[in-house]
Order: sequence, then structure tokens, then C-alpha cells
Amino acid sequence: MRKVALDAPLYGVLGQGSLLLRRLERLGLATVRDLLWYFPSRYEDFSKTYRIAELEPGQQATIRGVVEEVHSTRSWRRRMAIVEATIADESGTIRAVWFNQPYVANILKTGRLANFSGKISISEEGEAYLSHPAYELLRAGAQESGAEEAEGAPETRHTARLVPVYPETRGLTSRGIRYVVQSMLERLPPLAEWMPAPALARLGLPELDRAIRAIHFPRDIAEAESARARFSFENLYLLQMVNFEQKMKLARERAPALAVDAGKIKQIADALPFALTLSQKKSLWEIAQDMEKPRPMNRLLQGDVGSGKTVVAVIATLIAAENGCQSAFMAPTEILARQHFETTRKLLAALPRAAQAPIGLLTGSGGFIVYESGLAEPVTRSAAAKKAANGSVAIVFGTHALIQKSVSFKNLALVVVDEQHRFGVRQRAELVRGRTRAARTETAEEETGKRTGGNGAGGTAPAAGRIPHFLSMSATPIPRTVMLTAFGDLDLSLINELPAGRKPIDTEIVPPAERDKAYGFLRKEVADGRQAFVICPRIEKPDEEAGGGAHGAGGASNAAGKFAAALDMRSVKEEYERLRTKVFPDLRIAMLHGQMKAKEKDEAMRRFKEGACDILVATSVVEVGVDVPNATVMLIEGADRFGLAQLYQFRGRIGRGGHHSRCFLMASTGERAENARLKAVVEAKNGFELAEKDLALRGPGQFFGEMQTGFPDAAMDALRDPGIVKASREAAAETLAADPSLSRAPLLRAQLAEFKRRLHAE
Ligand code: ADP
Ligand code: MG
Repeated sequence: MRKVALDAPLYGVLGQGSLLLRRLERLGLATVRDLLWYFPSRYEDFSKTYRIAELEPGQQATIRGVVEEVHSTRSWRRRMAIVEATIADESGTIRAVWFNQPYVANILKTGRLANFSGKISISEEGEAYLSHPAYELLRAGAQESGAEEAEGAPETRHTARLVPVYPETRGLTSRGIRYVVQSMLERLPPLAEWMPAPALARLGLPELDRAIRAIHFPRDIAEAESARARFSFENLYLLQMVNFEQKMKLARERAPALAVDAGKIKQIADALPFALTLSQKKSLWEIAQDMEKPRPMNRLLQGDVGSGKTVVAVIATLIAAENGCQSAFMAPTEILARQHFETTRKLLAALPRAAQAPIGLLTGSGGFIVYESGLAEPVTRSAAAKKAANGSVAIVFGTHALIQKSVSFKNLALVVVDEQHRFGVRQRAELVRGRTRAARTETAEEETGKRTGGNGAGGTAPAAGRIPHFLSMSATPIPRTVMLTAFGDLDLSLINELPAGRKPIDTEIVPPAERDKAYGFLRKEVADGRQAFVICPRIEKPDEEAGGGAHGAGGASNAAGKFAAALDMRSVKEEYERLRTKVFPDLRIAMLHGQMKAKEKDEAMRRFKEGACDILVATSVVEVGVDVPNATVMLIEGADRFGLAQLYQFRGRIGRGGHHSRCFLMASTGERAENARLKAVVEAKNGFELAEKDLALRGPGQFFGEMQTGFPDAAMDALRDPGIVKASREAAAETLAADPSLSRAPLLRAQLAEFKRRLHAE
């Protein structure tokens, strides 16, 4: 038999013009490798053969028998070809029926021995029959040998074994795919292993050659699972290699080593209207330590909504300013950029004059305000950009566009990004390029700055060729396994406590019958001068929805349930109308959703922030850090449609002021069991716990929703298993410690290059 190479194109093997080829191509499979890496989605267990007399209705089973009689007919009404055969073994006979497969009659000739696998159905007359069984001809003689494991037993691929079931396409069945896969595997020379053998051995995982064969045709489920685990592990391992490489690469880059004056920091902290929490202090210390080093910081500051990340980041920017350097402070929306700007403006006002720094806000709409010596002054966008370029503002606030567009800085030393999780792997790569460009396009002239202390980094303020420190902030609780993989190249600082004195938020699960009570509470709060959020899972009625809108929706698993749920899933537009005209006609209500123009969104949010409206009906856009201390009520419609961690984050939008706050989780049913999941949110002590629970309950696909992870599918499932994530990290570290340039592992190097290509291509 002619051998095939993994990278051989399928057309070379199957022949140009083959119908099969065209169908495989429709699945996006072009090479032998593509085909073999098209894994079964499940297996059907036909491994035990039954005697015909033992068969039970409804059972999935394999029998082995001789075709006694076969004939084809055509149904009169539906003009459908029907093939019927009678199959016999020593215990009895059974009828088998195939619809629309007239050729079956040409294959299953009278007297042939074959395996038949399928479901035992009962006809209207009460007779058991095999409906549409898979079949496989056997050589005569196999019958006498009996048990499958006997020497010389026929090799089967469709019956009498664990049979792979593939995601199918029109015109190409699992049977067809099985057929080509098996013949390719037979012609495939043994594949060389590229993973470090000790790592596989430690986890008891099969080597590549064994795994690729076993994942298609496993002896048993355990073998299939360990083959699958190998491929997950392999992807995690490569991901970790990329993470470590990224880290090493960054470690070779130069960044401005900033002097950190502990006395000054204490002065700033003492001037704040509150005392920093212990974990804020700890995070700040970790950040400061990083910024003192002549290599770029790459750190994620993670903490629940309201845990006070902003002030930590602002102090970091002040450290940079103290060194005569600039910082860029970026947020995902203009509202948030403005909010950070305002927060910082107020914060600075409380500081001693010496600790202050000129700050600016640069927005796309052109409006720009510079704060110098206590005054906010509106200027044009270009005037603002000029001030960033000539270094006369120390902290520049803006959206993410700040770094991607033409804004340049004189001596950028720190980039702060809010809500990092909005960045996929790809955007992050862009961001790194972006900030490198920003740093490198600055004029080459040395900046003298105010830098005082030294830690052996040579020059004073940053010069061309240095890249800024990078700090991202996120309130999204990320399970540890995900943190170590998708964000594995980042160092982590955690703020795991809320500032003292926060009033806990009462959370209630509200069954449909008690809706009015929740509305009554809302009305009372508004009468007291407070405000409320109403969150809906989608923008429009289901049939009007044109994609977008509700993300993170999940829950009902069967189609009927989904349909029913979709019907009573409330939308922002409908709910806005209903509340405005029927429920609260006397109150001021606004709406906010992703289909609105940026300007309209900003306007709605601004009015709500200023207290010019009482109720904001919104989609999950409010998830991102909007701070409205006067909002004390949050009513979440279709709460069961959201992820737990997401609900937790929504809820963090309230309870930020001194008032007692309440969150209503509107359940779509009054049933206890259905609402058990929501209870986790009521009881949650922190978001991480919930994120872990969410990942476990809904699985990685649902958990990530729209969040772009750049994750290979094969690695996804492994995220439920901290052990395998840890092992992948250790294995990668081990490999790189022994052979940093991978000069002794050419196969691994090639795999890694290919992996990176795929990671950046998606
Ligand atoms: P987040 O981590 O969600 O970005 P913020 O930085 O917006 O949180 O902080 C939320 C609020 O808490 C702000 O009004 C901030 O001034 C205040 N804050 C921050 N740290 C403390 C603290 N240690 N004690 C009291 N209030 C604090
Ligand atoms: Mg924030």
C-alpha cells in the first residue's frame, strides 16, 4: 500500500474530481492532516455483539448474522426506495429496513455474513426490526471464531466496536468519513513525537502516533478520552510556550526604570479622602516594584467592581509623572475615559501641590480638556494632541484609540488599560506593537525630566528604543485556569477586598408572581431621590433581533425550552416602552444598548449619571465600569439567561454610594430547581468563586461567550481541569529551561511556529 504523508493534499490521495474530495473540502479539509485532525464529536458503543434472540426494543446493538433474504421495493405514495433484509444468527431472525438507499440491496446479497449496528425499533404490527442499521460485510469464517478479540477477527470500522461519529455535512456521513479516515490511517507511516516524552508519561498520556489512531478508532472509551486529553494537553503546552516566549521577549526589551519614592507615595496616600485597603497597598507595591526595573511591566490588576483599582493605577501614573514621564490611561468607552479623567481630577485636587500633575482628556469627538493648576480648560483635539506630543500633560486619558491612532507622546512610560478582557489575543499583540510604536516614534533627544533617584538603569527619563510599562485592569473574574492560559503572559495583582464601610447589596430572586413587589420597591427608592437600572438580556424582540445584543445568554438546553425562553425574554426596546407608558408613566426613563450610536449612548449615560433620569433600561453594556453612586436598585430581567459571573458584575454597578442597595434577579419561572443556579449569586462572597462555578456549569464555550480568547478548541475542555493546566505550564517551563532556543527540538519548533500562525490568524 502506498504511504501517505501528513501534509499531502487530499486530492493527491483521493484523486482529483472525486466526489468525496469535494465533500471533504466543503468541511475545510484539504490535507491528510486536516482530515485526521477532524476529530469525532462522540462515539457510539457497538462494541458488544448480541444474539438476535436477546435483543430488546429501543436498544442500540450490534448483531452478527447472515443475510437470508433481501429485496427492494418502492413505496407507492412517497416514491421512496425501501430495502428489506432478513438476517439470521443461530438464535433467530430479525428484519432490517433501509429507506432511500437502494444500493444496499446490491451489497447485502443473500448468504453474506455481516455485522449490523443500529436501533431496535418496533413496527406498527408489534414486530421488532432494525431500522437503518450500519452494516459491514465480514469474511465468512469470522462467524466461527466467535469473540471479537480472537486472532484473525475481522477489523471492523462501522460496527461491533466503538464507532466514531463525526460532525457531518450534507452528502457526507460519518460512515463516509470513517471510511476515508481508516484508509488514511492504514497508509500513514508512524508519526514522530514532538512533545517531551517525560511530560506525557507523567500524565499517562499516549504519544502522538497512538493518540491519532485511538481518537478515531479507540478500543474503549477510556482510550478515546486519553487520546483527547493528549491533544488538549498539547495545545495547552504550546499556549504556555507562547506565553513564556512572550515573557522572555519582553524581558529582553528595555523600559524606563522609574525611581519610586516611598515617602512621596505615602504622602499621596495620606492625602486621599480614604485609607487604601491592604490589597490596594500590596498591588501598588507590586506595580511600583515592576516600574523600578529597566524592563517593561506586563501586569494585570484584577479586582471586583468597586474594589478601587482606579486609584491604584492613578498613583502609578503619578510615580511616572514624578519621574518626568507620561502615562496613557485608556478605557473602552468615552464615558469611562471621561469618568477616569474626572475621578483623577478630583483625586489630584486633594493632593499637595507638589504631587500634582497636568492631565488631559483626549476624545474622538474632539472635545478635550486639560487640567493645569486646578482648572479644567476645554481645548481642540489638535491642541490636546500637541500637548501629549510635547510632553506638557503627564497623564492622558482616552479610549483605546489613543494608542492605535496618531497620538504620540514625548516620553511615554506607562500605559494603563481598563477592562483588559475586552482585548483578545490579537488585539493585545496590536497593542504591544502600538505602544512600541508610540515609544519609538518619539524624538530621539534625551529627556531630562525630574527623575531623581537611580537604580543603575543608566539614562534618566526614557529614550527612544524603550517601551512603556503596561498595566491592565479588569473587574471580570477570571477562573484561575483561564488566567494561567489565556492571560498566562501577564503577572497578576489581586485586589480581593472591598473598601471598608461598603453596605452589602441585598440580592433577591424574584419569581414572576412577585414582580409588582419589586416595582413597588423601585418606585419608593426613586421617590427618595435614588435611581435604578433595569437590565434586559436582549435589545429587541427575538424575531427582530439581527445578531448582536445579548451576550452570555445560556441556559435552556432543549429546543422547546429555548423557544419558550426566547418568547418571554424581555428586550430593552419593549421593556422601555412598557415601563414608560404603563408601569412608571410618571418617571423619567432612558434606554441604552449596543445598537445606539456612540453619541446617543454617551448622552443617555451622561443624563443618568447626572441624575436627569430615574431609570435606565439597558443591555449588558453597563457591565463595563460605569460609576453612578446614586443608583441603588438593579432589576435584572431574565436573570437565568446570564452567566453567574456576569450577574455578579452587573450587581457591582450599585451599592457604590452610601445608600443601601438592592438587586432583583427576575426569574422566568417560580420553580425552585430552576432558580438554584441564581442562588449562587445571592450567596457569593467574591466573583472568582462564581467564575469557577460558571465555567464548570456552562462549559468553556458558553462561559467565554463573545469574549475573544484565541483559544484552540482542543484546549478549551482542559480548562475545567486545573491539574492539566498546571502540568502544561510546568512542562513548558521545563522545556525552555533546558533548551531556551529549542535548538535541540526542531519538531517542537515547527509545531510552535504553526500554532502561533493559527493563533494569530483567527
Ligand atoms: P473599580 O475597581 O471598580 O474600578 P473604582 O476605582 O471605580 O473601582 O472605585 C470605586 C469607588 O471606591 C471610587 O469612588 C473610589 O474613589 C472609591 N475607593 C477606592 N478605594 C477606596 C478605599 N480604600 N476606601 C474607600 N473608598 C475607596
Ligand atoms: Mg473601574
